[in-house]
Amino acid sequence: MHLYYSRKRPFEDLPVEVTAIWSCPNENCKGWMRDNFTFSIAPVCAQCQSEMVKCERMLAALENTSPNQLKQ
Ligand SMILES: [Zn+2]
Repeated sequence: MHLYYSRKRPFEDLPVEVTAIWSCPNENCKGWMRDNFTFSIAPVCAQCQSEMVKCERMLAALENTSPNQLKQ
């Protein structure tokens, strides 16, 4: 194990990963959501009802490996 933590703010020590998200194309709206669910069609923005577009962001990794979170 090689842990070289510098004295950054704690937030910066969170592991990040490329995460698929849905983003609102409306430049006046900052709506977005994680692509945690399998949408058969593009979801609409909860704030402005625009059809969202899929893209990627560097986000803090979620602990979503638990099988208990599988929805059936
Ligand atoms: Zn929006």
